[in-house]
This record gives sequence, structure tokens and C-alpha cells, in this order.
Amino acid sequence: MKVVDLINHKRLNQELSKEALDYLVRGFLQDEIKDYQVSALLMAICINGMTVEETINLTKAMLKHSLILDLSSLNAVDKHSTGGVGDKTTLIVVPLVASCGVIVPKMSGRGLGYTGGTSDKLEAIPGMQVHLTKAEIKEQLKQLGAVLMTTNPELVPADSKLYALRDVTGTVSSLPLIAASIMSKKIAAGTTKIVIDLKVGKGALIQTKEETKLLVKLMMAIANHFQKKLTIVISRMDSPLGSYLGHGLEVIEALKVLKGDLNNDLGLLSITIASEMVSLGLGLDLNQARELVLAKLNSGAALAKFKAIITAQKGDLNHIIVAPQVVMLKAPGTGYITKIDALIMARFCQTIGGGRLTSEDQIDHGVGIVLTKQINDYVKTGEVIAKVYTRNLKLDLDPLKKAYSINEKPIKKESIIIDIIYS
Ligand code: URA
Repeated sequence: MKVVDLINHKRLNQELSKEALDYLVRGFLQDEIKDYQVSALLMAICINGMTVEETINLTKAMLKHSLILDLSSLNAVDKHSTGGVGDKTTLIVVPLVASCGVIVPKMSGRGLGYTGGTSDKLEAIPGMQVHLTKAEIKEQLKQLGAVLMTTNPELVPADSKLYALRDVTGTVSSLPLIAASIMSKKIAAGTTKIVIDLKVGKGALIQTKEETKLLVKLMMAIANHFQKKLTIVISRMDSPLGSYLGHGLEVIEALKVLKGDLNNDLGLLSITIASEMVSLGLGLDLNQARELVLAKLNSGAALAKFKAIITAQKGDLNHIIVAPQVVMLKAPGTGYITKIDALIMARFCQTIGGGRLTSEDQIDHGVGIVLTKQINDYVKTGEVIAKVYTRNLKLDLDPLKKAYSINEKPIKKESIIIDIIYS
């Protein structure tokens, strides 16, 4: 097989065989196939797509070089988000679901580009250990029913290598590549039941209904092939999720939700995802699962579980990292806030030190933004609409102002949940 022939094949929109995909993934991992060749192939896939069968075969090829855990004997459910701005649902949902009696062995990655990774948020808690040994994971699952850890490098190394290349070649948004990337990691993590939060909108990888439909179809086909139960919650991601952006600040907002601040999009989405996980894990109908989830929130059991997980992993919740200086963003006009652009917000956080441009970059866990006003709030010129936590008081806030639209009339706000699809 010649790599250049396979690249040409995909450029001409022909299907790649199972053998070809095995050859390409193995060669890339063993550095026998060069990055520039794989980059060309990724771009051809990005433009021409892949069939369902090709996407399943790519997932299988990636899994051939991975550690595969087997948690089928545990009553465990996994969750994954396709990535969004201000998405701290994992920090809320994992202890909440574990407090209902479902095992949640949650592995999370670091953020790259403008999206934040849960591992980064956890590292804003001083002392928090996110690299755990197999024995530590097993013991904590036995004691507490949940772990919050970083991804294991032996778990789908092909995805880490491909993702790094996709990130710098403009090929992250390819739907078959997203489906294979997410599903390979979920299959390797070993649970038989999975809930995915598929985010759609300006601050997400997926922007349209058509893309959503195709991604759902590809992920469902992979789940069926591997005999996994999959629930996909489709949620809106045009404005940031919640009011706190930045790693340490997001941990603080997750704690607020666990303490009962539920009457907002973040609370609603967290309760929805948790209820789906509990329903899958305990075999309850959705109403029963939701009642249990609300009971665990109201009794403080979910908050206690979060504290127990953090303490077991040596984290200190009394000293969450937050930058010491605050600069106020003031409303440039009078009226209703009708837009808070998630992408502009995320890029701003990235430029003040909260995000990485390359995987080696160091980040500042303390910087970020607290939105003091939300969509449809009425504001007057000069009123504070956001607080920026920074280490630089001379910060230029003009780029951040562009995230806002202020108008005479409020908008009709749509539900954060767009749809829920079951395998
Ligand atoms: N999340 C992933 O894990 N992979 C992708 O390709 C996109 C989002």
C-alpha cells in the first residue's frame, strides 16, 4: 500500500478500506507515515467525509493500539461533552450521579484552543491529584463510586496524536473524525453505558442541524457496533454556559450549583444529563431518576460527594486559584442584553492566559470572567455587566465588549436542551 495512493483515493471521495485505515493508523503511530501526509489525508476526510462503515473502521483501527478497560461488571456510566464555553457540567454531574449510587469513572482531557478541559479546571484546586494509579482508581471507586482524573496516555494514543494534528491543520470540525475520536475514548474507558452532551451553536464545534444529525448518526452507529447503550443530549451553545468562565472560577460555580443554585441553564443541563445517566445506570424511568437526582441535590448529598472526591484526591477547596485583580466591564449602552457571544468570550479568556495555543503552553488557572448580567437583563450605560479576573489591571476590554449586543427589546429565549436521542 502506498500512502500517496490512499490520500489520492480520499481526495477523489472514494471509500478507504478497513485494511487501508489499519495501515494508516499504525504507520502514523509508529512514525513511519509523516505528519504532512496524514495532514493531507485529514483535510481530504474533512472535505469529503467518511461513510458510516469507514468511520466504524477508523474507530476500530484507533482502538487496536489502545489499552481497553473492562468495567462491564460495574454499574458504571460514562459521560462526555463535545466541548463548549464555560462547560463545567462534569464537575457537577459526576458527584451528583455517584451520590445516586451509579459508578462514574470519569477521565477528562486538557483544553486546547478556546475550549476548556476538565483536567485544567481540576488543577485550579491546589493539591488535586488527577494522575491516579490503577490501584488508586479501583480503591476510590470502591469507597466513593467516582473518580475525576486525567486521561491515561495508554488510552487511545492514536486519538491524542491525531487530535494534536487536527488542531493545527484546520480539521477539528470533521464529523467522522469527531465521532471516531470521542467514541474510541469512550469504548476504551470500558463502560457499557454512555451519555454524550452534544453542543451546537456559535461556541461549539457543531454549528448546524444537518451537522448535528450526521454526527448523531455516526456516533449511534459506532455505539451499536460495539454494543454500547448511548444517550445523546443535544444542547445549545451560543452564549457561555453559566456565568463563570475560567478554570478556578468554574469550580466555584460548580460548587454553587451543588449547593442548590439550580434555576438557570447550567442547573437545568446538569440535572438533565445526571438524570439520563442515573436512568441508564439504575434502570429507572426518567421521572424516577430525576426525582432521585433532585433529592440528592436538595439533601446536600451531591455536594458532600463532591467534597469527598476532592479530599480523597488531596485537593483543597478552601484555596481555589482565582486571580487577585478585578477589572469591571461596563455596559456600552442602555437596553436589554440580547447576545453574549460565547466564542468571543472564550477567545478573550485565552488571550489573558486562560487557554493554550499549543499543547505545551502553561496556563493561568486563576484568570477569567464572571458575567454579572445575563441575556435579557435590562442594563443602563455604565452599569457593570462583567468582572474580569486578571493579573494585569491595564487590560484592554474593547475585544470583550464586542461579545455583547444591547437592544431595545428582549429576545425570545429558547431552552438549553434541544433534543435527546436514545440508542
Ligand atoms: N472532543 C473530542 O474528544 N474529540 C473531538 O474530536 C472533538 C471533541
